Amino acid sequence: MTSTPQTMLAARYVPGNEKLVLDRAYPIRELKDNEVLLKMVAAGVCHSDTALLSGVGLDTRTSPTLVGDRCLHRYGYVMGHEACGMPVKLGAKVDKHQIHLGQLYSALNLNGCTHGLNGASALLNSFGIGNHGSYAEYYITTSDLLVPVPEGVPPAVAAIASDAGVTAYHAVHHAAQVLIYGVGGVGHLAVQYAKHFGATVYVCDFKPAARQLALELGATEAFDWIELNKRLTAGFTVNTTIDFVATNQTFTTAMATVARNAVDFPVSPRVVLVGISAENLVFNTLAILSSEVQIIGSSYGPRSALVAALDLFAKGTVRAHVSEHPLENVNQIIEELRASDVLGRKVVVARM
Ligand SMILES: [Zn+2]
Repeated sequence: MTSTPQTMLAARYVPGNEKLVLDRAYPIRELKDNEVLLKMVAAGVCHSDTALLSGVGLDTRTSPTLVGDRCLHRYGYVMGHEACGMPVKLGAKVDKHQIHLGQLYSALNLNGCTHGLNGASALLNSFGIGNHGSYAEYYITTSDLLVPVPEGVPPAVAAIASDAGVTAYHAVHHAAQVLIYGVGGVGHLAVQYAKHFGATVYVCDFKPAARQLALELGATEAFDWIELNKRLTAGFTVNTTIDFVATNQTFTTAMATVARNAVDFPVSPRVVLVGISAENLVFNTLAILSSEVQIIGSSYGPRSALVAALDLFAKGTVRAHVSEHPLENVNQIIEELRASDVLGRKVVVARM
């Protein structure tokens, strides 16, 4: 079995700190029976991390780290919840015929049986959010969360499949005419999944490069917010909006965009919220009753969504816009995400 070091480079979330703390000698703990130690090959940097680092849902939990029989309580946890890695060590009860050393795997953040712990929802007790994640040279997960990467899917793409891919695929299901707010790491995949499901896709993004990318990926029209409002005045409508931004501006506009679909009863229009912001969204009850709009939260997705996302990448049906950067640069990428200065997804890779 491959020997592994005792420590590694890891980027740790510390409550109250807007930047990740880079720890160059973070201990690699022993494995429990059903766990797998993976070498991190690629890890996507998700916009959700900027929200968590900005104090949205301030998280004061400590993830204990076991080194031998010593328990080191380091404040915070290793962030990063999009991962592609290669197993280098298996726990005693992991089936060696099922999980193979040296094979690439995409890692789910949580399984369908995960329940909330300590008063937090399952999502807040998942890989890289509450528990140690993938902004590190090595990471540990349980064998049931690993999905093999099909031939031809590069590690950076397999990494983003595990979060952006799953989330986008799950959110767009059943949309017919859809307006997508925010063509970022998740949104640019959502455009393509929606097209794959046969939807007519419109997008709204304030960045010209993001609108251009959406058009290249199959969107019918791409608006900035002012253009969208002009079109709304002229009668533009869709039956579904998917909001990867989730501010008062996008939510209010989304409600106006689907309101005209009241003529389509009994099929209710849907406003799907996927993005995370610090804003509280306000709605008028009459506007909801009169249009029978369904306001739906969508986060992450099942294992089948990851399998489907990887398959669509392997077939070339969906293209990921990714670029690779050293793990040490993760804070710089987070700053770029805060400034909305990332097109598609930036992925960190470990130098080993
Ligand atoms: Zn994410």
